[in-house]
Amino acid sequence: MSVYDLIIIGGGPAGITAGIYAARQKLNTLLITKDFGGQVARKAVVIENYPGFEEISGMELIKKFEKHLRKQKVDIERDEVTKLKKIKNGFLVLTKSKNRFESKAVIIASGAAPRPLEVPGEKKFIGRGVSYCTICDGPLFSNKIVAAIGGGNAGFEAAIFLSNIAKKIYILEYGPKVGADQTNQERVKKTGKVEVITNAALKQIKGQKFVNSIIYQDRNSKKNITLPLEGVFVEIGSQPATAFVKGLVDFNKKDEIKINLRTNQTKISGLFAAGDITEIKDKQIVIAAGEGAKAALSAYDYLQKFQD
Ligand SMILES: Cc1cc2nc3c(=O)[nH]c(=O)nc-3n(C[C@H](O)[C@H](O)[C@H](O)COP(=O)(O)OP(=O)(O)OC[C@H]3O[C@@H](n4cnc5c(N)ncnc54)[C@H](O)[C@@H]3O)c2cc1C
Repeated sequence: MSVYDLIIIGGGPAGITAGIYAARQKLNTLLITKDFGGQVARKAVVIENYPGFEEISGMELIKKFEKHLRKQKVDIERDEVTKLKKIKNGFLVLTKSKNRFESKAVIIASGAAPRPLEVPGEKKFIGRGVSYCTICDGPLFSNKIVAAIGGGNAGFEAAIFLSNIAKKIYILEYGPKVGADQTNQERVKKTGKVEVITNAALKQIKGQKFVNSIIYQDRNSKKNITLPLEGVFVEIGSQPATAFVKGLVDFNKKDEIKINLRTNQTKISGLFAAGDITEIKDKQIVIAAGEGAKAALSAYDYLQKFQD
């Protein structure tokens, strides 16, 4: 087995940028990722805060990222990392397809995955009415009644996207008021198709072969209310994708990896982390990309010393 200088785990903004920077430092690099785009590919409305592009869709932006990466000398594996181990002089990476890779340094850039609702019916109806990706699955709900669960920006943006497809959209928010910003609230209002329900605790997703209704509890009256509908879009935030690295690094209370904020190194020499997987305060594309660049340059510095 050949030993890479650097293995990058993740193909979102942080991992891709790390790959581009590593290649420019002539590091022998492997990038392993389940998919390209990560959370950016789930973005339901256009991105308006990535410099250089006043308006660009998530898919378009990530295609540009991927194209840029593929122009570099970086090996790419489409696979899921299941375990990362510290071994003598480096790291061993194990994947779902039973591949094993070794490297002298690693950058973890596995970002975050959608947080599940954890209500009865959710798992049963995944792909049969329950979706975690509005942009991917939304078009299947033409002229149907659907719900976006979560009253933050993600829930509102999902509703805006769905308003061009579905007949009616409910937004269910657990708290007494929604968290979406004013612009998104105004855009939702303009669609004329969205009903926002606050103080709604989702209790169950029901159906036969496919979803046909949800039950939520009105947290004021404590009454259970049934809404007949066919699609449930889960938009209640994300959780760090850290399963493969448990026991190896330190985490904060949110399960985010603790790093040296200047170098992106974890408590283990040669093991770096970048982007939404880490404890950095703001989770944004431009920040994740910057953190990926920082981590790659720190890995390069580490490897220079490693050779000595
Ligand atoms: C709905 C939504 C809307 C958003 N809108 C905006 C916006 O308008 N502007 C903005 O700046 N930011 C926005 N964000 C935030 C932004 O998308 C993230 O901050 C950014 O994508 C983080 O990049 P990342 O590379 O750290 O992680 P991610 O984008 O999460 O990428 C992680 C990558 O790692 C891969 N991966 C995970 N686990 C493994 C594993 N075990 N093995 C191999 N690969 C793995 C994933 O497949 C993915 O490719 C939005 C996020 C969401 C969810």
